[in-house]
Amino acid sequence: MIKASAVNQIKSGIHKILTRKFNDVFPNDIYASILIKPNLNSNMNALTGNTTDLRLCAAVVEFLKERGYRNIMIGEGTNSGFYRNQISVIERLRVDRLAKFYGISVKDLNYSDPVRIEFEDGVKAGVAKECIEADLFINMPKLKTHFEMGMSVCLKNLMGCLVGQENKKKTHQALAANILNINKKIKPHLHIVDAIISMEGLGPTRGKPIHTDTIFLGTDPYLIDLICAKFASFDDKNIGTLVEAHRREIIGHQYYNFVNEFNLESSFHFEPPQPGKIAGFIHSPKRQKYFLAMRNTKFFNFLCSTEIGGQLLFKTGLRQDVFIEDEMEVSGFSVNREKCSNCTKCQDYCPVDMKLPDQLEKVDNHCIECLYCFMVCPDKAIEVKGKLGFVSEQLKQYDSLVRKIT
Ligand code: SF4
Ligand code: SF4
Repeated sequence: MIKASAVNQIKSGIHKILTRKFNDVFPNDIYASILIKPNLNSNMNALTGNTTDLRLCAAVVEFLKERGYRNIMIGEGTNSGFYRNQISVIERLRVDRLAKFYGISVKDLNYSDPVRIEFEDGVKAGVAKECIEADLFINMPKLKTHFEMGMSVCLKNLMGCLVGQENKKKTHQALAANILNINKKIKPHLHIVDAIISMEGLGPTRGKPIHTDTIFLGTDPYLIDLICAKFASFDDKNIGTLVEAHRREIIGHQYYNFVNEFNLESSFHFEPPQPGKIAGFIHSPKRQKYFLAMRNTKFFNFLCSTEIGGQLLFKTGLRQDVFIEDEMEVSGFSVNREKCSNCTKCQDYCPVDMKLPDQLEKVDNHCIECLYCFMVCPDKAIEVKGKLGFVSEQLKQYDSLVRKIT
């Protein structure tokens, strides 16, 4: 576990701990295939608490590049709703630009060749072959609350290995059991949890960001998930995946003893995910299977595809995302020097180490347009030239929250 907040702390902390504690994990062959799997389940900026922080991805990639690895990929099977609407979350979050900056590849695993594995009740569903075949698989979840599972960390993040909507749908029934089933087949070599800015409340996509300044690293996803529960002051009996792991006797006394004795230095009291009345009624364990059966009908899929139907589902809490087609188109940034107090916060948040705010207005800079500097500036001195598109909707909910906690 390391404490880190600014980009230089994240990069130096990751470098130090990977070198000192996890040397054995890294292959000798510089041509080994390395898959980094962040959590990019929606198009929400990492500073909202929803997706993995690009500064952490950059820190891991820089470490791997420094070791000479030549075959690095960032891969994630983003939420099926975005996939169905042909919206590229990887592009929207500028993960493609980050990958280009470092000269590595990136892939939406929804379009991968599937390898069929077994889930509950004899169901077989396809996971991306990259997840099975990688010589080194680094799982990089975000720490966040999850209204169905209680919390989403290492174990839940592997659901993004499923290829496309059809395979994701097949596994949604008996979700906790199937999350464990996927973890039985796919075993990442290393887990690096982004708890720099986490999410509390109605996660995974409607909660609130909470600045927790922490990164967890380890090789046992069950242990890390338990420790994260303690970190958030969550009873693990309310976390579906851990309840199932306990039932299957994967976690037992040794785990609980270790966690009890583990010194967290600091811990937080995350607000639990409380769904609205309608979503809470439908998602109760007794009724959820009927809702899932209805969700797989043609009529329901048609309703979801209409704008009014989508808005209705979002408002009732039955759907966590809105799928806005309008893209962001940035032609540059400007800095209002009269407003700027030279706090240097923008520089602390830049994944690609730009010298901010000075370099921001230079034409040939290497900005990837992640918007982190724009979102954290306490004086609102950074302005975006162009249109914000889908980001405008996020800002309505998160603009002041993000500025307040960062
Ligand atoms: S965060 Fe805003 S106020 Fe602070 S240095 Fe950057 S531009 Fe200036
Ligand atoms: S300059 Fe700002 S928008 Fe550009 S990469 Fe850095 S933080 Fe992101």
